[in-house]
Amino acid sequence: MTALPPVDLRSDTLTRPTPAMRQAMLEAEVGDDVFGEDPTVNALQERVAALFGREAALFVPSGTMANQIALKTWCRPGDDVVAGEGSHVWYYEAGAAGALSGVQISLVGDGLLTAAQLQAALKPDNHQYAPTTLAWVENTHNRSGGRILPLAQLQEVQQLCRQRGVHLHMDGARLLNAAVATQIAPAAWGGAVDALSICLSKGLGCPVGSVLVGDRDWIWRAHRFRKMLGGAMRQAGILAAAGLYALEHHVERLAEDHRRAQAFAEAAAALPAVTLGLDTVQTNIVAFAIDPARMSADTFVAQAAARGLLSYAIGPQRVRLVFHLEIDDDGLQRAVDLTRALLS
Ligand SMILES: *Cc1c(COP(=O)(O)O)cnc(C)c1O
Repeated sequence: MTALPPVDLRSDTLTRPTPAMRQAMLEAEVGDDVFGEDPTVNALQERVAALFGREAALFVPSGTMANQIALKTWCRPGDDVVAGEGSHVWYYEAGAAGALSGVQISLVGDGLLTAAQLQAALKPDNHQYAPTTLAWVENTHNRSGGRILPLAQLQEVQQLCRQRGVHLHMDGARLLNAAVATQIAPAAWGGAVDALSICLSKGLGCPVGSVLVGDRDWIWRAHRFRKMLGGAMRQAGILAAAGLYALEHHVERLAEDHRRAQAFAEAAAALPAVTLGLDTVQTNIVAFAIDPARMSADTFVAQAAARGLLSYAIGPQRVRLVFHLEIDDDGLQRAVDLTRALLS
């Protein structure tokens, strides 16, 4: 009897390109993208810009680089950026915002930025204060368990930004999860911010890549910073082809990841040792807390791994599981059974 491979729910970045995606990559027409001559990169950029109802887009190697290019394009050193608590740009980017862009990030609220939180964080125009030039939203919000920043809430933030002359950027690494879950078209989200990014290498299943989207002149300026950070690639059409494939075939299916996350959450929430608000499970991420009298998150992660379920500790008692395109209903069932066995 061969052991089953583990159910790997550590992240939706673990997905490997499918045979059909690899075939699309194999067949991609390519050119030198630094010369703007890679037809597949150009097609991807046009496709993503159109999807979000915006003028232009830029293919970049990673979500972290997309965020750093955005900071450099929007801000000058010494500027203040207001962002929701736990934002990726602050937490998971190795200090790049300070090191590379020279901005300070002021964290507010619980992750999903509101207009009231932004209002309270804006300082008077006084030489003591760093000027807030950028409001930063993340949607869905990774560290708050993939929760969605509702469009109406985002539009209130946008209105305040316009009144106060502050730019508004959205780290939309998982924005298509939000679009699928809410059934609100990507273009509506695209119209609610000055610029945004999406990740192709999360739920969409590509090996590499993110895309920045915005006005033509903003993307033009972002282009220079992509070069500065070393992110200008050559025959990148081979990677962009994966993105085009994913936009065609892997967007609607995100609903399946959401359904499985919901099913797992319902089963986990029924366990006495687990604290999990079902209203927090809105997309493909499930985050729950374990009763400290029972075990720590690290112990859960280790014991679950030994039994074939890979998960991720995001706090002393908090565990995160992420559903993605390599997890089917059988994987869901195994994850549920193993979690019950450990925590009942
Ligand atoms: C994953 C992620 C990114 C980018 O991460 P990379 O690993 O650099 O691609 C940015 N923002 C959010 C919210 C993410 O979840």
